[in-house]
Amino acid sequence: MTFATLGLIEPLLRSLETLGYQTPTPVQAQAIPAVLAGRDLMAAAQTGTGKTAGFALPLLQLLAMEGPKVTANSVRALILVPTRELAEQVHEAVRQYAENLPLRTYAVYGGVSINPQMMKLRSGVDLLVATPGRLLDLFRQNALKFNQLQTLVLDEADRMLDLGFSEELANIYRALPKKRQTLLFSATFSDDIRLLAGQMLNDPLSIEVSPRNVAANTVKQWIVTVDKKRKPELFVHLMRKGKWKQVLVFAKTRNGVDALVEKLQGLGINADGIHGDKPQATRQRALDRFKLSEVQILVATDVAARGLDIEDLPLVVNFDLPIVAEDYIHRIGRTGRAGSTGEAISLVCADEVNLLSAIEMLTRQTLKRQNEPDFEPEHRVPDTDASGQVIKKPKKPKKPKTSGGGGKRNLGKWVDSGEAAPAEPSIKPVRKVPVFNTGPRKRKP
Ligand code: AMP
Repeated sequence: MTFATLGLIEPLLRSLETLGYQTPTPVQAQAIPAVLAGRDLMAAAQTGTGKTAGFALPLLQLLAMEGPKVTANSVRALILVPTRELAEQVHEAVRQYAENLPLRTYAVYGGVSINPQMMKLRSGVDLLVATPGRLLDLFRQNALKFNQLQTLVLDEADRMLDLGFSEELANIYRALPKKRQTLLFSATFSDDIRLLAGQMLNDPLSIEVSPRNVAANTVKQWIVTVDKKRKPELFVHLMRKGKWKQVLVFAKTRNGVDALVEKLQGLGINADGIHGDKPQATRQRALDRFKLSEVQILVATDVAARGLDIEDLPLVVNFDLPIVAEDYIHRIGRTGRAGSTGEAISLVCADEVNLLSAIEMLTRQTLKRQNEPDFEPEHRVPDTDASGQVIKKPKKPKKPKTSGGGGKRNLGKWVDSGEAAPAEPSIKPVRKVPVFNTGPRKRKP
């Protein structure tokens, strides 16, 4: 099968040739003909499957071949994404695919001045990539009209709900023309997503390219158990032992990111961090430098790392396990992409056993434990398995305390400064957010 046999027009085929895409991925093979035929789509596809081209290519073709010229402040196709980084990344892909087509494309997101965006929208845009909050701001300030809108794409819909965007989505939904094509992409398909799909889609074609909620099997995954306070030390040890070249590291909190980066930089290691407290320009610069291999270790929170597309990333390290089990799938989706193999290592302490159990249940696997000599935890991480059970061993009788050494270590300020987050084990593994609820937003990208 080739892109030509899927019905794509010559200007798009030329762009794909330039990009070196030879064969459509499974999601592209299914999505492209269906979108060209005007169908609504509900696709379970995680990052790395080629889903962006799966919706962007046929969308661009429809925009180029059909419909009226775009008018002032109008938009003909809208791609909603959860984060700024993903907005930039999707728009960059769209720009490359549309290289040989006379279409106007643009991306809008928060955290940067709205005025240039309003100016740009004045003459209308064929395809707009947007985060929900900024899109609504622009709409409310009359910088955007939806009367010409023919297609809506919800990309990483699960993530948009996780980030508390259900109210924004409901408001956007109300402002859109009822007659339109809608494509929904999500890495995972919770009941909330199915409910959202039920409200937004019309007789959708369902596409599932990887088993539901199962992490990419091209990624070798394992865990190392360790005491919480020794995680940084273990990280540095593993890094030196494994001669890691380029690693994306996930930490739970913004403070945790800063603390680890500071520690690594203090040891002369080329590290940088990205999180929601940093200005967009700084985040983008860190990301660009990481992509160019000018930065060896990039430490990120889940929100900031969402949608990062880094080719051939060999290794992802979960310095902390994610609070939402589904984020584990997103995280490890950064490696082993487009058919290459990758490795995902998680440093797990006793506090995180419930999170580990939730991940194993979600991914239907028991993660292999590979203990590191000299780092065996004093606080044992109970055994877990894919059934979601935490297997508690009977407690050994306590030894009487001896004075000196042993117990607590003081590794300095930076170890503790990452612990501003809530205690994680009490958080339920798989979150339930009512679709279109009006509750407070949890986090902003
Ligand atoms: P995505 O899942 O959309 O984030 O895409 C993952 C990566 O695969 C991106 O770097 C794309 O440029 C690349 N890609 C997508 N489709 C193809 C294809 N058919 N052949 C080769 N690379 C592709």
